[in-house]
Amino acid sequence: MFENKDNSTTSIASLGEFGLIDHLTKNFKIKQKSTVKGIGDDAAVIACNSKNEIVVTTDLLLEGVHFDLSYVPLKHLGYKSVIVNLSDVYAMNAEPTQITVSIAVSNRFPIEALEELYAGITAAAKIYNVDVVGGDTTSSTTGLLISVTALGTVKKGEAVYRSGAKENDLLVVSGDLGAAYLGLQVLEREKEVFKVNPNSQPDLEPYTYLVERQLKPEARKDIPNLLKELGVKPTAMIDISDGLSSEIIHICKHSKVGCNLFEDKIPLDPQVITTCEEFNLDSTTIALSGGEDYELLFTISTEDYPKIKANPHLTVIGHMTHENEGTHLISRAGTKIPLIARGWNPMKDSE
Ligand code: ADP
Ligand code: MG
Repeated sequence: MFENKDNSTTSIASLGEFGLIDHLTKNFKIKQKSTVKGIGDDAAVIACNSKNEIVVTTDLLLEGVHFDLSYVPLKHLGYKSVIVNLSDVYAMNAEPTQITVSIAVSNRFPIEALEELYAGITAAAKIYNVDVVGGDTTSSTTGLLISVTALGTVKKGEAVYRSGAKENDLLVVSGDLGAAYLGLQVLEREKEVFKVNPNSQPDLEPYTYLVERQLKPEARKDIPNLLKELGVKPTAMIDISDGLSSEIIHICKHSKVGCNLFEDKIPLDPQVITTCEEFNLDSTTIALSGGEDYELLFTISTEDYPKIKANPHLTVIGHMTHENEGTHLISRAGTKIPLIARGWNPMKDSE
């Protein structure tokens, strides 16, 4: 019935994740006056009353694509599925308030396993002070699927978008980058070792920070509060889910600016540096393309620099330029290298 007789089809790979979203959503027009911001940011923004706006965001996690249950404990998975959404709420400068949780499960999961998943969801909801207010439950013939939607609230006019960065603004990141991706590499390696020798016990001691960043990430709820205390309102903000490079490109595209990112300024944990050496990986590449850091990346006016410069949680990693200058990494050797957006690669499974 749905057979396509037309041979002129276009592969998803030719568009990539971000191109695909743009392509599928380009014809949606905003009809409601209450829609302040539709598609295109970390969360949509909806007018609520004269004082507040609501933000809403959703993320989907699929077994075999986003997680591997041979080394991801279900409790951690539940926790992470909430965190990845709350991170998008904080990236709007909003406070999360409610979540809904939808799951698709097969008979392979006993009740006790799903209780574990929900123990993780409950823990995250408690720590981040959000109510679980709904969801959906259905069966799956393949793996486990979890979709969480998060709602949040922000004072009218206080939401921070990807689109507000100005030429000469400073580019700032919280925490450090690349650890979650390396944690995944460590866990994947241990899985392979275990397959060959099921009696082996992994020694994860040298990688505790990396594995924790992969299995139990936190959303940076402290950063919007810290910025308020310091009297700094970011001009643009995004959370780092796909890797620093992609997120910088999003800010540049939406704000119509360019960017110079300085390689020697990218914050890296010592475990990232030593593990990159061990795995023969380039730490800058990992920070740029690794993803799942859930740190906040934002721009500030140069006037605000004195307010943040001594803060141990924040690092200035670059500055915004004129759009025509493009987006570049300035390497340690001083070479200008164009940044490339990675995102989700639809070709990955067929490689
Ligand atoms: P994030 O990484 O912050 O979760 P995404 O890159 O997933 O953001 O999405 C970018 C924007 O595109 C968001 O506004 C999101 O709501 C929207 N979006 C993503 N997929 C779809 C889709 N299938 N249909 C409509 N909007 C989508
Ligand atoms: Mg995001």
